[in-house]
Formats: sequence, structure tokens, C-alpha cells
Amino acid sequence: MIEEVKIQEKKLADYRKLMPENLKLELKRLAEKLKGKKIVHINTTSREGGGGVAEILHGIVPLMRDLGINASWYTIEPPLKFFEITNKIHNGLQGKGKKLTKAEKDYYLAQSKKLSKHVEKLGAHVYFIHDPQPLALTYFSKKIDPSILRIHIDISNPLQDTWKFLLPYVSDHEKVIVSIHEFINKDLPKKKVVVFPPAIDPLDAKNMPMKKEYARMILENMGINPSKPVIAQVSRLDPFKDPIGVIKAFYIAKKTVPNLQLILLAQNLADDNPYSKKIFEEVKKHTKGDPDIHLFYDPKKMEYENDIIVNAVQIASDIIIQKSTKEGFGLTVTEAMWKGSAVIAGRVGGIKIQIRDGYNGYLVSTINHCASKIVELIKDKKLRHTFGRHAKKSVTENFLLPRLLRDHLKTANEVLK
Ligand code: UDP
Repeated sequence: MIEEVKIQEKKLADYRKLMPENLKLELKRLAEKLKGKKIVHINTTSREGGGGVAEILHGIVPLMRDLGINASWYTIEPPLKFFEITNKIHNGLQGKGKKLTKAEKDYYLAQSKKLSKHVEKLGAHVYFIHDPQPLALTYFSKKIDPSILRIHIDISNPLQDTWKFLLPYVSDHEKVIVSIHEFINKDLPKKKVVVFPPAIDPLDAKNMPMKKEYARMILENMGINPSKPVIAQVSRLDPFKDPIGVIKAFYIAKKTVPNLQLILLAQNLADDNPYSKKIFEEVKKHTKGDPDIHLFYDPKKMEYENDIIVNAVQIASDIIIQKSTKEGFGLTVTEAMWKGSAVIAGRVGGIKIQIRDGYNGYLVSTINHCASKIVELIKDKKLRHTFGRHAKKSVTENFLLPRLLRDHLKTANEVLK
């Protein structure tokens, strides 16, 4: 019912050029008390396309080991029905969807109880529980303690029925980590809440330096002309990512920039979401067969691996768009800013702590606003470079893996008994 995830080795020393001296010292200090201690991370998936949590764990678990901590990562493997229910919980926590039925609540708790019997055997000194699916486990075993719950979504305004049901299980954790202040739920005691944002791994294939000429060649092989203006959104096809709004903004901007091209990179990596196929058809309809709109959905049809394509698109496009209308953190924004790209993104969620409007990117709220900023930036190469330079600096200082490692170690130190 639980499975250990195989971890590729990583060395903190490889990140030294990206870390200020005080961060290096702090990591050393924080690791001291945790040396030899067993830290277990629990979540639901480890595979590529499994979302930000899997990417983050592939980053921080090996670095914890490198610091002498006995860190490991397990995924829970309950029946599929469990995930259908936790999907509803995920939506409910964000104030969407329907109430859970009594049967669903009972099933969720019964499975959590079963899973807890497996997890308690791990005998860790600290448990990190990631996201809502495994959050109730700790309640059913005194041995899964101390535990820290890491929630990536906005839980400030949940469906009341779902929240009331979950509150005892959420409260069972020693600490609850959210990404930004806005996501804090006021029912949780202040001293329980910890706030820190996610981060990207600068040494991941997706974020490694890539020559611009090589990135442009990849775009060319994908049927895009890199010598004409290119804008791109790299995102799942989810209504909150507003792909149709992006297309509408593109059409408005194209009236002023006739040779403008749009890339919508939305590879369906998880391949288990029938809903996304439906949105794909709808988005495709809006492209009206325009040869300047390049929508990529099926990874099997691509010549290059996902990470390479994401990297190339974020490097070679003139502007990266992330026109979300709701967003947790927005790793695509971080990734593009890290590459020194000019970003235009929705003024929502975690994007607001990444972009300082008019300094290292633009924040927009409407389609027209987005279109006017596209035109402005396409015409102003110098401003694009200035934004890119500022963007890279702010990601280097705030949103790279070693800082995220520090925040986890700090929280682990606080709960260690
Ligand atoms: N992504 C990808 N291939 C795609 C589209 C997106 O690998 O074709 C990645 C993207 O690079 C980012 C992640 O999916 O790392 C999306 O994270 P984000 O926080 O932006 O949004 P989420 O999908 O978690 O809501």
C-alpha cells in the first residue's frame, strides 16, 4: 500500500555558485541537529508530469541525504476510488465542486486508517505529508509524529462542508505549510502555520543553460519560425490557466504585429485525465486552424523530450505568457524568469510574489490588457532584456532549490522531539 521512491543522487556542492555564503552556513547549521535522523516524505506520485510536488521531492530528498540526513520518500498506493474522492477534496479545499457524501467521507477515512498502519512502521523522526490526499493518515496513528503538512493550494476559502470535515485531520499536524500568506486559512492557529513558496531546481534538464541558437533550432523543428516574433504559454489545459484568453489576446495583438506566432505547450504527460482531452478539443476550435498558432498536446508526437522542449520554448520565445485566472504558485513563471525571459502573467496567487509589475515582468488582469502588453514588449527589445535581467536576479535570490531545502530543514528542526 506504500512504495519507496528511488532517488537519484544530488550534491549540494553543485549548487554552491548559486548560494550566498549565509545560506551555505545556515544549511550546515540546520542539518546538524538532523544528522542521522530519519525524515520521511509522503505523497501520491513520483512520476514525470506528476506535478510540482514530485519535482520538488526529486530535488530536496537527495539534498537532505547529501547533508547526512536519513531522508526517504514514499508514495501511497490506495485503490483508485480513493483518488476520485481526494480529487473532490482538492477542489473543495479551493472552494470549488461538490460536497462529499457520507459514504465518500467514510471511505476516505477508512483508507487513510489502513494506510497509516503501513506508514507508522517507517519509524521516522519527522514526517512531511504533501498535499491533501494523505493528510488524514497521522490522525490514525500516534506513531506518525511529529508531522508537517505541506499544502500547495489556496485553502483560505474552502467549501465549508469539506473544510469542517477535514479540520480535525489538518489540525492533527504540528505545522501546516502554505505557499503564500494569502492562502492561510484563519481557522488554523497562527503558531501552526508556516509560509514559504516552492522553488525550481536550476540543475534540472528543464532549467539547465541552453544555447539560444540550439533552442531556436528546436523551435524550428517544431514548425515555428524563430526569426518572427513568438509568444508562448507553457501550461496544462486547465480553464484556470485561461488558454482561450491567451488565444484571444494573441488575435488582438496580431492586428498590430501581423507576423506574431503563438505556442501553446500543453503536453498531456499524466495521460489519465479525460477532462483535459475535452478542453483540448475546445482550445483547438478557438485556434481556428491558424497556422501561426502551434498547440502541442500529445508528447508521443514530439521529437524531443518534454524537459528539453519546455526549456527551449522558455528560452527562445520573445515573451512567456501565463495568463492564469487562479494560480497556486506558478512554477512556469519561475522557470521562464530564471531563463531571463520577459513574462506577462495573471495578477493572481503566487504569481504576485514573483513578478513586480513593470520591474521584472508585467501583471495583467484582462485579455485586452494582456494584448496591449504583448504589443508593447514585442516592440521593445530593450525592455524585454531589462525585465529578463531583473527576473533572473529575483529567482536566483528567492526561488531556487537550496532556499527551499533550508525552509524544510528549519521547519523539521522546529518540530523535532
Ligand atoms: N509543464 C511541462 N510540459 C508542458 C506543460 C507544462 O513540463 O507541456 C510543466 C511546467 O514546466 C511546470 C509544470 O508543468 O514545471 C506546471 O507547474 P505550475 O506550477 O506552473 O502549474 P500546475 O500545473 O502545477 O498548476
